[in-house]
Amino acid sequence: MTEIVVISGKGGTGKTSLTASFAHLAEDRIVCDLDVDAPDLHILLAPKHLRSEPFVSGHEAAIDPGRCTDCGQCAALCRFGAVREVDGEYVVDPVRCEGCKVCVACCPAGAVDFLDKTCGERHVSATRFCTMVHARLFPGEENSGRLVTLLRREARALAEEEGRSLILCDGSPGIGCPVISSLSGADLAVAVTEPTPSGAHDFARVAELCAHFRVPLALVVNKHDLNPEQTRAIEDAARAMGHVVAGRIPFHPDVTAAMLARKAVTETDSPLAPLIRDIWTTILETAGRAAKTAAAPVLTTLKGA
Ligand code: SF4
Ligand code: SF4
Repeated sequence: MTEIVVISGKGGTGKTSLTASFAHLAEDRIVCDLDVDAPDLHILLAPKHLRSEPFVSGHEAAIDPGRCTDCGQCAALCRFGAVREVDGEYVVDPVRCEGCKVCVACCPAGAVDFLDKTCGERHVSATRFCTMVHARLFPGEENSGRLVTLLRREARALAEEEGRSLILCDGSPGIGCPVISSLSGADLAVAVTEPTPSGAHDFARVAELCAHFRVPLALVVNKHDLNPEQTRAIEDAARAMGHVVAGRIPFHPDVTAAMLARKAVTETDSPLAPLIRDIWTTILETAGRAAKTAAAPVLTTLKGA
């Protein structure tokens, strides 16, 4: 089984649009949206939930007013300022509560319950292309790395169950916890970058991250014609680091038009479609070379190839 993760040094590089096209072009695949802080792939793939469950992670304190004697100790001891007196009653602000359990341990009346915290929801869904695994972390919630790990595990189990040979993941932007969780053990990372100084900087950072986790990297420069010089510089840097340059995509209004129509670009008759198809072929070949075992079946997953 081969796992390809599409990443970008920052948001807004066209990563999700490109992933949707790859999801369309690939066969024999499961799609997984690992951008749990701001998932967008569902907008293009219109998933219909088959099963959903809450993502429970950590705990939060809750004061039972029936048992509370209003002594105020919890408010005094909570270093996160999460306990407040409201209309003569002590209450926990769930947004501020860090789940440290100090109030639970110190309450002389045993009035503080320590409840499981629901931080988001995860889904297995059907799309017009394939089964999709995705999730949403509630605003302000943390532990996205753990949620990403759970999604990847779910995607792998589903791929085995359905006999799929490819897991295609839309990763998170940046180099934070969710990206790290999505990269470890992946067969190939595809970095989508724009030709700007910050794009070059972001690419260098994701390349460093991939090198650390020994994940091979393929580069795609989006909107390459906006700055041909910078494009060449990023591609040269990628080659110098031993990475594959999978291709370039020019700036084109068809990307936005496809997005508004809730389609992958490759589902349209855009002149970008054959370009993306070529890029996907290169990515599959690169992943096939990089896969530890059973590289050959991966090369059969391009429609019409
Ligand atoms: S320490 Fe316990 S009894 Fe005292 S205010 Fe807090 S919850 Fe109420
Ligand atoms: S669990 Fe910790 S952070 Fe939350 S209210 Fe109690 S003392 Fe404050």
